[in-house]
Amino acid sequence: MLPSLPSFDDVLQAAHRLQGVAHKTPVLQSRTLNAQMQAQVFIKCENFQRMGAFKFRGGYNALAKLSDEQKRTGVVAYSSGNHAQAVALSARILKTPATLFMPHDAAPSKLAATQGYGAQVIGYDRYSEDASALAAQLAQDSGKTFIPPFDHPDVLSGQGTAALELFEEVGELDALFVCLGGGGLLSGSALSAKAKSPHCKIYGVEPEAGNDVQQSFRKGERVKIQTPITIADGAQTPMVGAITFELIKALVDDIHTVTDAQLIDVMRFYAERMKMLVEPTGCLSLAAALQARETLKGQRVGVIISGGNVDLSRFAQLLAQNPSA
Ligand SMILES: *Cc1c(COP(=O)(O)O)cnc(C)c1O
Repeated sequence: MLPSLPSFDDVLQAAHRLQGVAHKTPVLQSRTLNAQMQAQVFIKCENFQRMGAFKFRGGYNALAKLSDEQKRTGVVAYSSGNHAQAVALSARILKTPATLFMPHDAAPSKLAATQGYGAQVIGYDRYSEDASALAAQLAQDSGKTFIPPFDHPDVLSGQGTAALELFEEVGELDALFVCLGGGGLLSGSALSAKAKSPHCKIYGVEPEAGNDVQQSFRKGERVKIQTPITIADGAQTPMVGAITFELIKALVDDIHTVTDAQLIDVMRFYAERMKMLVEPTGCLSLAAALQARETLKGQRVGVIISGGNVDLSRFAQLLAQNPSA
Protein backbone atom coordinates (compact mmCIF):
# COMPACT_ATOMS: atom_id res chain seq x y z
CA MET A 1 0.00 0.00 0.00
CA LEU A 2 1.32 3.37 -0.97
CA PRO A 3 0.84 6.36 1.32
CA SER A 4 -1.32 9.03 -0.29
CA LEU A 5 0.64 10.75 -3.02
CA PRO A 6 2.09 14.17 -2.29
CA SER A 7 0.61 17.16 -4.09
CA PHE A 8 1.79 20.60 -5.17
CA ASP A 9 0.65 21.89 -1.79
CA ASP A 10 3.33 19.74 -0.15
CA VAL A 11 5.92 21.38 -2.42
CA LEU A 12 4.70 24.81 -1.33
CA GLN A 13 4.96 23.81 2.33
CA ALA A 14 8.47 22.49 1.70
CA ALA A 15 9.41 25.81 0.06
CA HIS A 16 8.21 27.55 3.21
CA ARG A 17 10.34 25.29 5.43
CA LEU A 18 13.39 25.84 3.21
CA GLN A 19 13.06 29.60 3.17
CA GLY A 20 16.26 31.16 4.51
CA VAL A 21 17.85 27.72 4.89
CA ALA A 22 18.37 26.56 1.28
CA HIS A 23 19.88 28.85 -1.35
CA LYS A 24 17.60 30.22 -4.03
CA THR A 25 19.92 29.13 -6.81
CA PRO A 26 20.45 31.19 -9.98
CA VAL A 27 18.82 30.56 -13.36
CA LEU A 28 21.40 31.15 -16.09
CA GLN A 29 21.33 31.41 -19.86
CA SER A 30 24.09 31.04 -22.45
CA ARG A 31 23.95 32.95 -25.75
CA THR A 32 26.09 30.25 -27.33
CA LEU A 33 23.67 27.57 -26.22
CA ASN A 34 20.57 29.51 -27.22
CA ALA A 35 22.06 30.09 -30.68
CA GLN A 36 23.06 26.45 -31.01
CA MET A 37 19.61 25.23 -29.95
CA GLN A 38 17.66 28.02 -31.68
CA ALA A 39 15.68 28.09 -28.46
CA GLN A 40 15.70 29.91 -25.15
CA VAL A 41 17.23 27.64 -22.53
CA PHE A 42 16.87 28.44 -18.83
CA ILE A 43 19.34 26.56 -16.66
CA LYS A 44 18.47 26.12 -12.97
CA CYS A 45 21.80 25.73 -11.22
CA GLU A 46 21.45 23.38 -8.26
CA ASN A 47 25.20 22.85 -8.47
CA PHE A 48 25.22 26.10 -6.47
CA GLN A 49 22.87 24.70 -3.79
CA ARG A 50 24.22 24.13 -0.27
CA MET A 51 26.37 20.98 -0.22
CA GLY A 52 26.47 21.23 -4.01
CA ALA A 53 23.24 19.53 -5.08
CA PHE A 54 19.43 19.79 -4.95
CA LYS A 55 19.36 16.92 -2.42
CA PHE A 56 19.67 19.39 0.44
CA ARG A 57 16.08 20.46 -0.30
CA GLY A 58 14.51 17.03 0.20
CA GLY A 59 16.80 15.99 3.02
CA TYR A 60 16.18 19.12 5.03
CA ASN A 61 12.42 19.05 4.39
CA ALA A 62 12.18 15.46 5.64
CA LEU A 63 14.29 16.08 8.75
CA ALA A 64 12.56 19.35 9.62
CA LYS A 65 9.23 17.49 9.79
CA LEU A 66 10.43 14.97 12.41
CA SER A 67 9.18 15.20 16.00
CA ASP A 68 11.56 16.37 18.73
CA GLU A 69 11.79 12.79 19.96
CA GLN A 70 12.70 11.51 16.47
CA LYS A 71 15.29 14.26 16.09
CA ARG A 72 16.88 13.27 19.42
CA THR A 73 17.10 9.60 18.46
CA GLY A 74 18.62 10.38 15.08
CA VAL A 75 18.36 9.44 11.44
CA VAL A 76 19.87 6.83 9.14
CA ALA A 77 20.26 6.98 5.36
CA TYR A 78 22.23 5.45 2.50
CA SER A 79 23.68 7.13 -0.55
CA SER A 80 26.51 7.12 -3.06
CA GLY A 81 27.09 10.69 -2.07
CA ASN A 82 24.78 13.64 -2.37
CA HIS A 83 21.88 12.37 -0.27
CA ALA A 84 24.41 11.46 2.41
CA GLN A 85 25.75 14.99 2.40
CA ALA A 86 22.23 16.39 2.37
CA VAL A 87 21.15 14.36 5.40
CA ALA A 88 24.44 15.01 7.19
CA LEU A 89 24.20 18.78 6.70
CA SER A 90 20.50 18.90 7.57
CA ALA A 91 21.16 16.82 10.67
CA ARG A 92 23.89 19.20 11.76
CA ILE A 93 21.61 22.22 11.29
CA LEU A 94 18.79 20.51 13.22
CA LYS A 95 21.17 19.05 15.85
CA THR A 96 20.25 15.45 15.06
CA PRO A 97 22.69 12.49 15.08
CA ALA A 98 23.06 10.96 11.57
CA THR A 99 24.38 7.56 10.42
CA LEU A 100 25.08 7.15 6.70
CA PHE A 101 25.78 4.03 4.65
CA MET A 102 28.04 5.02 1.75
CA PRO A 103 29.68 2.79 -0.90
CA HIS A 104 33.39 2.04 -0.41
CA ASP A 105 34.07 3.61 -3.82
CA ALA A 106 32.09 6.82 -3.20
CA ALA A 107 33.75 9.98 -4.52
CA PRO A 108 36.38 10.94 -1.89
CA SER A 109 35.09 14.53 -1.80
CA LYS A 110 31.53 13.34 -1.04
CA LEU A 111 32.83 11.01 1.70
CA ALA A 112 34.97 13.73 3.26
CA ALA A 113 32.13 16.27 3.14
CA THR A 114 29.69 13.87 4.82
CA GLN A 115 32.15 13.13 7.62
CA GLY A 116 32.96 16.82 7.83
CA TYR A 117 29.33 17.54 8.72
CA GLY A 118 29.76 15.27 11.72
CA ALA A 119 27.87 12.19 10.49
CA GLN A 120 28.92 8.63 11.23
CA VAL A 121 29.74 6.85 7.93
CA ILE A 122 29.53 3.07 7.39
CA GLY A 123 30.92 1.60 4.13
CA TYR A 124 29.18 -0.94 1.85
CA ASP A 125 29.74 -2.55 -1.56
CA ARG A 126 27.43 -0.91 -4.09
CA TYR A 127 27.54 -3.84 -6.53
CA SER A 128 26.83 -6.66 -4.07
CA GLU A 129 25.12 -5.23 -0.97
CA ASP A 130 21.60 -3.87 -0.60
CA ALA A 131 22.18 -0.53 1.11
CA SER A 132 18.49 0.11 1.52
CA ALA A 133 18.09 -3.12 3.51
CA LEU A 134 21.17 -2.31 5.63
CA ALA A 135 19.80 1.13 6.47
CA ALA A 136 16.28 -0.15 7.16
CA GLN A 137 17.69 -2.83 9.48
CA LEU A 138 19.78 -0.36 11.44
CA ALA A 139 16.77 1.93 11.75
CA GLN A 140 14.68 -0.93 13.09
CA ASP A 141 17.33 -2.02 15.60
CA SER A 142 18.18 1.48 16.83
CA GLY A 143 14.84 3.31 16.65
CA LYS A 144 16.40 5.89 14.35
CA THR A 145 14.30 7.27 11.49
CA PHE A 146 15.19 6.04 8.00
CA ILE A 147 15.34 8.86 5.44
CA PRO A 148 15.18 7.29 1.95
CA PRO A 149 17.02 9.05 -0.90
CA PHE A 150 14.01 9.53 -3.15
CA ASP A 151 10.97 7.36 -2.42
CA HIS A 152 9.44 9.46 0.34
CA PRO A 153 6.72 12.15 0.18
CA ASP A 154 8.72 14.71 2.19
CA VAL A 155 11.92 14.09 0.25
CA LEU A 156 10.35 14.44 -3.20
CA SER A 157 8.26 17.44 -2.12
CA GLY A 158 11.45 19.17 -1.04
CA GLN A 159 13.14 18.34 -4.36
CA GLY A 160 10.20 19.91 -6.19
CA THR A 161 11.06 23.34 -4.80
CA ALA A 162 13.92 23.80 -7.30
CA ALA A 163 11.53 23.65 -10.28
CA LEU A 164 9.05 25.80 -8.34
CA GLU A 165 11.70 28.53 -8.09
CA LEU A 166 12.52 28.14 -11.79
CA PHE A 167 8.89 28.69 -12.85
CA GLU A 168 8.45 31.54 -10.39
CA GLU A 169 11.49 33.25 -11.90
CA VAL A 170 11.00 32.70 -15.65
CA GLY A 171 7.28 31.97 -16.05
CA GLU A 172 5.82 29.22 -18.19
CA LEU A 173 7.97 26.87 -20.27
CA ASP A 174 7.35 24.59 -23.24
CA ALA A 175 9.60 21.79 -22.01
CA LEU A 176 11.49 20.85 -18.86
CA PHE A 177 14.40 18.37 -18.71
CA VAL A 178 15.23 16.80 -15.34
CA CYS A 179 18.09 14.49 -14.29
CA LEU A 180 16.72 11.15 -13.12
CA GLY A 181 17.90 8.42 -10.76
CA GLY A 182 15.22 7.16 -8.39
CA GLY A 183 12.81 9.88 -9.45
CA GLY A 184 12.66 12.23 -6.44
CA LEU A 185 13.77 15.29 -8.39
CA LEU A 186 11.66 14.38 -11.42
CA SER A 187 8.43 13.66 -9.54
CA GLY A 188 8.77 16.77 -7.37
CA SER A 189 9.58 18.90 -10.42
CA ALA A 190 6.54 17.47 -12.20
CA LEU A 191 4.27 18.55 -9.33
CA SER A 192 5.60 22.09 -9.67
CA ALA A 193 5.46 22.07 -13.47
CA LYS A 194 1.85 20.90 -13.63
CA ALA A 195 0.80 23.64 -11.22
CA LYS A 196 2.87 26.53 -12.56
CA SER A 197 3.01 25.71 -16.28
CA PRO A 198 0.29 23.19 -17.17
CA HIS A 199 1.25 22.89 -20.86
CA CYS A 200 4.94 22.27 -20.20
CA LYS A 201 6.22 18.90 -21.42
CA ILE A 202 8.19 17.13 -18.68
CA TYR A 203 11.08 14.80 -19.54
CA GLY A 204 13.18 12.68 -17.22
CA VAL A 205 16.71 11.86 -18.39
CA GLU A 206 18.72 8.84 -17.30
CA PRO A 207 21.95 7.22 -18.47
CA GLU A 208 21.58 4.86 -21.44
CA ALA A 209 23.45 2.16 -19.50
CA GLY A 210 20.78 2.26 -16.76
CA ASN A 211 17.48 2.94 -18.52
CA ASP A 212 15.33 1.22 -15.90
CA VAL A 213 12.86 4.10 -15.65
CA GLN A 214 12.45 4.30 -19.43
CA GLN A 215 11.73 0.55 -19.45
CA SER A 216 9.36 0.94 -16.50
CA PHE A 217 7.59 3.91 -18.10
CA ARG A 218 7.00 2.01 -21.35
CA LYS A 219 5.82 -1.09 -19.51
CA GLY A 220 3.68 0.71 -16.94
CA GLU A 221 5.31 -1.17 -14.08
CA ARG A 222 8.61 -0.88 -12.25
CA VAL A 223 11.51 -2.77 -13.85
CA LYS A 224 14.63 -3.62 -11.80
CA ILE A 225 18.05 -3.80 -13.46
CA GLN A 226 21.62 -4.54 -12.36
CA THR A 227 23.37 -1.51 -10.87
CA PRO A 228 24.36 0.22 -14.12
CA ILE A 229 27.95 1.07 -14.98
CA THR A 230 27.98 4.74 -15.94
CA ILE A 231 29.89 7.89 -15.00
CA ALA A 232 26.56 9.34 -13.79
CA ASP A 233 27.00 8.01 -10.24
CA GLY A 234 23.97 9.92 -8.94
CA ALA A 235 21.76 7.92 -11.31
CA GLN A 236 23.07 4.43 -10.60
CA THR A 237 19.76 3.33 -9.16
CA PRO A 238 18.59 -0.19 -10.06
CA MET A 239 14.89 0.70 -9.74
CA VAL A 240 12.66 3.76 -9.61
CA GLY A 241 10.73 4.40 -6.37
CA ALA A 242 7.15 3.20 -5.87
CA ILE A 243 5.80 6.63 -4.94
CA THR A 244 7.96 8.50 -7.43
CA PHE A 245 6.88 6.13 -10.20
CA GLU A 246 3.18 6.75 -9.55
CA LEU A 247 3.77 10.48 -9.99
CA ILE A 248 6.04 9.96 -13.01
CA LYS A 249 3.41 7.77 -14.72
CA ALA A 250 0.73 10.37 -14.09
CA LEU A 251 2.63 13.58 -14.82
CA VAL A 252 5.72 12.98 -16.97
CA ASP A 253 5.63 12.95 -20.79
CA ASP A 254 8.61 10.72 -21.57
CA ILE A 255 11.96 9.41 -20.39
CA HIS A 256 15.07 10.09 -22.51
CA THR A 257 18.49 8.47 -22.29
CA VAL A 258 21.98 9.77 -23.10
CA THR A 259 25.43 8.18 -23.26
CA ASP A 260 28.42 8.83 -21.01
CA ALA A 261 30.18 10.47 -23.98
CA GLN A 262 27.33 12.98 -24.30
CA LEU A 263 27.63 13.73 -20.57
CA ILE A 264 31.34 14.48 -20.94
CA ASP A 265 30.61 16.86 -23.84
CA VAL A 266 28.17 18.73 -21.62
CA MET A 267 30.64 18.80 -18.69
CA ARG A 268 33.11 20.44 -21.09
CA PHE A 269 30.49 22.91 -22.33
CA TYR A 270 29.52 24.00 -18.80
CA ALA A 271 33.16 24.41 -17.78
CA GLU A 272 34.41 26.20 -20.91
CA ARG A 273 31.41 28.33 -21.76
CA MET A 274 29.68 28.92 -18.44
CA LYS A 275 32.62 28.53 -16.04
CA MET A 276 30.73 25.94 -14.01
CA LEU A 277 31.84 22.64 -12.53
CA VAL A 278 28.98 20.17 -13.00
CA GLU A 279 29.09 16.51 -12.00
CA PRO A 280 28.34 13.90 -14.69
CA THR A 281 24.82 13.19 -13.38
CA GLY A 282 24.05 16.90 -13.42
CA CYS A 283 24.72 16.96 -17.17
CA LEU A 284 21.95 14.49 -18.07
CA SER A 285 19.29 17.17 -18.59
CA LEU A 286 21.18 19.40 -21.02
CA ALA A 287 22.57 16.39 -22.90
CA ALA A 288 19.00 15.28 -23.61
CA ALA A 289 17.85 18.78 -24.57
CA LEU A 290 20.73 19.00 -27.07
CA GLN A 291 19.82 15.60 -28.40
CA ALA A 292 16.20 16.72 -28.92
CA ARG A 293 17.09 20.15 -30.33
CA GLU A 294 15.24 19.63 -33.65
CA THR A 295 11.95 19.36 -31.79
CA LEU A 296 12.69 22.29 -29.43
CA LYS A 297 13.34 25.06 -31.96
CA GLY A 298 11.73 28.35 -30.99
CA GLN A 299 10.71 27.02 -27.58
CA ARG A 300 11.31 28.07 -23.99
CA VAL A 301 13.17 25.16 -22.43
CA GLY A 302 14.02 24.53 -18.78
CA VAL A 303 17.04 22.45 -17.78
CA ILE A 304 17.80 21.52 -14.18
CA ILE A 305 21.45 20.95 -13.28
CA SER A 306 21.14 18.60 -10.33
CA GLY A 307 24.58 18.96 -8.77
CA GLY A 308 28.23 19.88 -9.05
CA ASN A 309 30.05 17.50 -6.73
CA VAL A 310 32.88 15.91 -8.69
CA ASP A 311 36.52 15.54 -7.68
CA LEU A 312 38.73 17.74 -9.82
CA SER A 313 41.06 14.86 -10.62
CA ARG A 314 38.11 12.82 -11.85
CA PHE A 315 36.77 15.76 -13.82
CA ALA A 316 40.13 16.14 -15.60
CA GLN A 317 40.35 12.39 -16.18
CA LEU A 318 36.88 12.23 -17.75
CA LEU A 319 37.57 15.15 -20.08
CA ALA A 320 40.88 13.64 -21.14
CA GLN A 321 39.15 10.33 -21.84
CA ASN A 322 36.84 11.98 -24.35
CA PRO A 323 38.72 14.84 -26.05
CA SER A 324 36.59 17.38 -27.93
CA ALA A 325 36.35 16.88 -31.67
C1 LIG B 1 20.44 12.06 -6.50
C2 LIG B 1 20.88 12.77 -7.70
C3 LIG B 1 20.19 12.65 -8.91
C4 LIG B 1 18.99 11.75 -9.06
O1 LIG B 1 17.93 12.18 -8.26
P1 LIG B 1 16.67 11.25 -7.95
O2 LIG B 1 15.81 12.05 -7.09
O3 LIG B 1 17.17 10.00 -7.31
O4 LIG B 1 16.07 10.94 -9.28
C5 LIG B 1 20.62 13.38 -9.99
N1 LIG B 1 21.70 14.18 -9.91
C6 LIG B 1 22.40 14.34 -8.77
C7 LIG B 1 23.58 15.25 -8.76
C8 LIG B 1 22.00 13.64 -7.62
O5 LIG B 1 22.70 13.79 -6.50
